[in-house]
Amino acid sequence: MLPEHPAFLWRNPEPRRRYDVVIVGGGGHGLATAYYLAARHGITDVAVLERGWLGGGNMGRNTTIIRSNYLWDESAAIYEHSLRLWEGLQEELDYDLLLSQRGVLNLAHNLHDVRESRRRVYANRLGGIDAEWLDPDGVKEVCPLVETRDDVRYPVLGATYQPRGGIAKHDHVAWAFARGADRLGVDIIQGCEVTGIAVRDGRVQGVETTRGRIEAGEVALAAAGHSSVLAEMAGLRLPIQSHPLQALVSELLEPVLPCVVMSNAVHVYVSQAHKGELVMGAGIDAHVSYGQRGGVHVIEHQLAAALELFPIFSRAHVLRTWAGIVDTTPDASPIVGATPVAGLWVNCGWGTGGFKATPGSGWVYAHTIATGAPHELNAPFSLERFRSGALIDEHGAAAVAH
Ligand SMILES: Cc1cc2nc3c(=O)[nH]c(=O)nc-3n(C[C@H](O)[C@H](O)[C@H](O)COP(=O)(O)OP(=O)(O)OC[C@H]3O[C@@H](n4cnc5c(N)ncnc54)[C@H](O)[C@@H]3O)c2cc1C
Repeated sequence: MLPEHPAFLWRNPEPRRRYDVVIVGGGGHGLATAYYLAARHGITDVAVLERGWLGGGNMGRNTTIIRSNYLWDESAAIYEHSLRLWEGLQEELDYDLLLSQRGVLNLAHNLHDVRESRRRVYANRLGGIDAEWLDPDGVKEVCPLVETRDDVRYPVLGATYQPRGGIAKHDHVAWAFARGADRLGVDIIQGCEVTGIAVRDGRVQGVETTRGRIEAGEVALAAAGHSSVLAEMAGLRLPIQSHPLQALVSELLEPVLPCVVMSNAVHVYVSQAHKGELVMGAGIDAHVSYGQRGGVHVIEHQLAAALELFPIFSRAHVLRTWAGIVDTTPDASPIVGATPVAGLWVNCGWGTGGFKATPGSGWVYAHTIATGAPHELNAPFSLERFRSGALIDEHGAAAVAH
């Protein structure tokens, strides 16, 4: 019997000695995968193993930007699938995710930006994604606070605009998927670190954990920045580099920023949280690291960039800064699918932009694990592409843009 108390989120079970599927990582992607395995495929003999607490990784550290306006058909398709799932997710999970489709502006500051951005708008429209090109007056109309004078160092020459883009409350998303999965019978086990992956004759057998060995038919990695550490336990080397990515919030302000504003050239993105803080992020710290902190110079650069676009924010105080560890691939696109070890699956490489993919990623990953073959949406995002050369280069749309 499940408790009926409305504050009840999930059980806290002891790990069993065997599951059909063990998911490693209780971030958004692992939890969404568990939920869809149970809800869509009827696979409920599932454990999510999280070494810390749910949502304590990038899921609770990201700046919550959601959009689908990527350049290539493959990426636009998977992110748009995710955006459509977002649009029905509060009802499906019966949880207020504070999804706010307030629109996302990607500013262009030079001719190259303009060409690349317009190309992306045309590509998005061909793919059925809402995308508009705005001139500086149009930008001002959508977001009156953006500096659009033309005598500044990085004048705004225009912007792409995705009205259906926006933000959501990231920790609610983790809790909602966790509660949904738990109610369907999934064991969510916090404080359980995977320390080894058992492989025999090319097939995965289970995992070693700080709470004992757990046998599994399938082991699905969803460990974001620590994916390569885990893959190495099974003798695999992933094409992943893990970097700190920082963000910050200001003190609380009254609502002043009506949409999300991003700029690759100036190198910052800004939104305003429901509570009132300005939320800002920038590019990754250049060094590889597993320390969830970054260099102060990156924060300084980020604030300088923000003030280029929003001089009016110069009096706002920074409340706190933090970092998460993001898993970047050579083509700035994710990896979702099989590995050379039978029964071992990988979902990683979402880098700086995987929050928006949370439902879509879980949906296709669950399909892949349940059927033993990729869904058509994640088939292009195989590990194999780094051998075949069929890369999906999203540096333009992914880079600093989250
Ligand atoms: C500062 C910042 C800003 C970002 N902004 C955005 C944004 O605006 N929009 C966007 O779309 N994306 C953004 N992202 C990226 C997004 O957060 C990630 O791509 C996404 O959260 C990764 O998936 P996840 O939620 O499953 O990862 P995580 O929450 O990191 O989950 C992985 C989990 O695996 C666990 N784990 C690791 N090793 C082990 C082990 N050995 N055993 C058990 N568990 C283990 C970790 O503790 C962690 O909880 C941002 C990221 C950061 C850091």
